[in-house]
Amino acid sequence: MSDVFVTRIWPGDAGDKLSGASLSVEVWQDYEAPNRDEMTGAVAGVRALITTIEDVVDAKTMDAAGATLKIIAQAGVGFDNIDLDAARSRGIWVTNAPGVLDECTADLAFALMMAVARRIPEAAAYVKEDQWSGWHPSLFAGAEFNGATVGVAGLGRIGMAFARRCEGFNMNVLYSARTPKDAADARGYSYRSLDELLTESDFVSLHVPLTTETRGLIGDRELSLMKSSAILVNTARGGVVNTEALMNALANQTIAGAGLDVTDPEPMRGDHPILKFSNVVVLPHVGSAGLQTRKNMYELAVNNVLLALAGDVPRHALVTP
Ligand code: NAP
Repeated sequence: MSDVFVTRIWPGDAGDKLSGASLSVEVWQDYEAPNRDEMTGAVAGVRALITTIEDVVDAKTMDAAGATLKIIAQAGVGFDNIDLDAARSRGIWVTNAPGVLDECTADLAFALMMAVARRIPEAAAYVKEDQWSGWHPSLFAGAEFNGATVGVAGLGRIGMAFARRCEGFNMNVLYSARTPKDAADARGYSYRSLDELLTESDFVSLHVPLTTETRGLIGDRELSLMKSSAILVNTARGGVVNTEALMNALANQTIAGAGLDVTDPEPMRGDHPILKFSNVVVLPHVGSAGLQTRKNMYELAVNNVLLALAGDVPRHALVTP
């Protein structure tokens, strides 16, 4: 039985701090996440869990760990895989890792928007498949950023970092959130309701967390509001977009394309019908996959475990016992 169970092998040497603090650590060695039985077996008697998005951390997992469990430290900002109420009722700290991945995730959102707009994956495949026979005025002609309007749905840490990138490309920024933001107004971004944002934008990028309110936020009705030339980018969570509705919108040319780093279902297998659309780029949930960022995410989780087990207050508490 170990003090800390880590559900994945993380880059960097932050884990050494745990053993340096005389904690015994078990790191799950498989590439795939531990399944339900493996998880409940591995957590028995641990004092701390370091988790990620695919780990189901619910009452069953917490009860399998038992009364020794003091902290669940999520090494990521999204925490829709953790039952916060179950942790609260059991007096367990829950922390996440916001802030350290904002720039990296915003980079990927922007790259994805560019990939769809300028059809980069399609164009690269065209060359590799030896189809390039000569220059043509309409060869892979796509959407442009200069002077275009981008709608940022959810202007939090990552949405803001994404919007700053759009400024540099001379785009007009609209945003929606639960409340208007002074910091956004100061940068010249305009607040809109989600419906207005969808109607007015040439590009829409989603940056809301997955909650009961945001599940299926983008469905048939919302997609029908978008311009037929518009591109939807989702680096938030797959469940924020209704996949069936998105496929219908693409098939009916209600919108012009989509870039998805997160999908529903996830992982998305190669035979999923949405992958047949040439105007869709799907990535395997790699928004925060910068080498340094991944080290930083793990280090933040490790530090929180050390703080909580020493009886101190960890950072970014989602649940305080
Ligand atoms: P954040 O700072 O909390 O920002 C979230 C934004 O969403 C805020 O502007 C918030 O509005 C808005 N929002 C929340 N609930 C809403 C609702 N019901 N309706 C409308 N707007 C709502 O979060 P963040 O750090 O930017 O991260 C955002 C999400 O990105 C994470 O939760 C995670 O799921 C995802 N993510 C994905 C990757 C990836 O690898 N693809 C990497 C990192 C994060 P208010 O400010 O007005 O409350």
